[in-house]
Amino acid sequence: MPVELLGKSAEELRDFMVSLGEKPYRGPQIYHALYKERQFDFAAMTNLPAALRERLAQEASITLPRILRRFASVDGSIRYLFSIGSETAKPAQIESVFMPREGRQTICISTQAGCAVDCHFCLTAQLGLIRNLTAGEIVGQVLAALQENREHLAPQTNVVLMGQGEPLLNYDATMAAVRILLDPKGVGLGPRHVTLSTSGIVPGIERLGKEKIRPSLAISLNASSDEQRDALMPINRKYPLSVLLEACRNYPLRPREYFTFEYVLLGGVNDTVEDARRVVRLLAHIRAKVNLIPWNPGNLPYRAPTEESIEKFQEILVEKGVPSFIRYSRGQDVFAACGQLASLESAGPIVSLQ
Ligand code: SF4
Repeated sequence: MPVELLGKSAEELRDFMVSLGEKPYRGPQIYHALYKERQFDFAAMTNLPAALRERLAQEASITLPRILRRFASVDGSIRYLFSIGSETAKPAQIESVFMPREGRQTICISTQAGCAVDCHFCLTAQLGLIRNLTAGEIVGQVLAALQENREHLAPQTNVVLMGQGEPLLNYDATMAAVRILLDPKGVGLGPRHVTLSTSGIVPGIERLGKEKIRPSLAISLNASSDEQRDALMPINRKYPLSVLLEACRNYPLRPREYFTFEYVLLGGVNDTVEDARRVVRLLAHIRAKVNLIPWNPGNLPYRAPTEESIEKFQEILVEKGVPSFIRYSRGQDVFAACGQLASLESAGPIVSLQ
């Protein structure tokens, strides 16, 4: 059976070359062709001798996620419905969103098909966990989206691991993909341009803090008390706010690095003045900024916050020295927004919330 190369590190490719009896340095050459040049056809890897290219075509494969459908939003975002799977990995459908902006593009990718975490405001939760993605399937979403849009790419690429799934519950594959994204010899993105968003898996946060190479960290907060968070995100019963925020206080942030706390404002649920004041107290002594994300009306029983409550909430945070930004989700008309990624075949207004 051909060996799948997408998702392999330079070291793994070197070992693979050695296992074929080839020169070890061919491994890094393939690594460069795959991730730097985005060559997905061995015939096009002209940095390799013809005989090796032919051999690889027989003995190896490069499987990018296959685009099943594209949903284009009026705001320029594109939601991709991808089909993944191979002889060794069960077929599944996942989603990514490509969001172009002046001077940059942001690509939101999935780390699992479906999700087991069960946040109540999230359509992905309704799928349950289908399976973990491999490192190749994770990095492949970025490469496929860049390749698709190659004609009009901006100089800067941001990647957010905020699509389907909880990245820290698929830790090894996620980090293998992140290392390729952050490697200057790989995809070559800066650490501040790759953000991993978690619902608050404390052992994963602690493990991430020990990594030499790691992305920025965003935490899906969404509530100002345990009672409220238990009701919205059952994971809070396992890792309550005091435990989660203690893990944040102990996390070895680098100079000028911040946590991003994502806070989805749900009208009448967590958007009051008292909520804002409690959030300020919760985040005391944590280097944090807060993204306020007004709820996208969808198929779930929540309502959007009023403009007035959004502005008041932000004002209280900023007044108390907590940098806070209002982020309207992009791609709402094609179900591409936070919490909307649920492999919906139809176009219409997306939501995964981390
Ligand atoms: Fe899973 Fe994220 Fe949705 Fe929560 S918000 S259910 S962690 S995909």
